[in-house]
Amino acid sequence: MNSELKMDSNPTGAVQPRRRVDFNEAPVPGEGVESQSSSGRTPLKLATPYVLEARQLYKTYRKNKHAVPVLKGCDFTAVAGRTTAILGQSGSGKSTLLHLLGTLDAPDAGEIYFDGERIDQLPRRRRDRFRNNQLGMIFQFYHLLPEVSAYQNVLMPMMIQEGFFGYLKNRAQIKKRATELLTRVGLAHRMHHKPRELSGGEMQRAAIARALIAEPDLLLADEPTGNLDRETGAQILDLLAELNRERGLTIVMVTHDESIAAACDSTIHLEDGRIKA
Ligand code: ADP
Ligand code: MG
Repeated sequence: MNSELKMDSNPTGAVQPRRRVDFNEAPVPGEGVESQSSSGRTPLKLATPYVLEARQLYKTYRKNKHAVPVLKGCDFTAVAGRTTAILGQSGSGKSTLLHLLGTLDAPDAGEIYFDGERIDQLPRRRRDRFRNNQLGMIFQFYHLLPEVSAYQNVLMPMMIQEGFFGYLKNRAQIKKRATELLTRVGLAHRMHHKPRELSGGEMQRAAIARALIAEPDLLLADEPTGNLDRETGAQILDLLAELNRERGLTIVMVTHDESIAAACDSTIHLEDGRIKA
């Protein structure tokens, strides 16, 4: 098995006590962004303890003559290797904030930094590189391609990232990693099934494997258990917590569930377009 997929930091799988985040604390060596990479990518060098930081974000949606102001000077920070919850009522702008953090949409004003580099106004190619190399995303409704298997869904980001010839050249290694990841998320027995043949929890496992295939440093999750029953949701949250511990993956998770937020290292409350103090 690939070394990065091993559960070495918590071999018993026991639930670990919740860590308190000290925002002035330096990143812990060996945690998160400094973890090894089988792809040979240069590990991140942290400029600040915040791997992801947004300052004074503004976002208004405009439809016909109606303006819907959603973010009104919203700040955000996430510490490398930790889990951060974005909590807020439905319609409070959680998804909007997550989309901005993931460069899927642009703020009207404000700045977003990843590892000290401004990412909210990157030229298209560098933005695509950020999304492909550093970022994994999962969603409430999984967003899997319906016509292909879980395995092929997991391979897809690598096909896009590597291009036709790159993928052909590296396909043995990529396929091995896809199989290992699907095994890791507990989907080895379902990997050749299409999404419609999978349960909600299995689809989210496939989506998590797909989000991790390019070995991202940051996982953004928008209500990843919002469409699952409590038990299945708890299993998905356990899986994310394990991945955070094993690989030091930085996770930012949107939720409207206080108990889910309580399981994260830190929580940010979104209210009236800003972070509630
Ligand atoms: P949350 O994820 O917290 O439920 P969202 O970020 O999805 O909230 O939405 C915040 C507000 O912005 C809501 O009032 C929603 O209707 C509105 N909104 C979201 N996306 C769009 C859009 N593309 N166009 C117009 N209004 C939108
Ligand atoms: Mg939402």
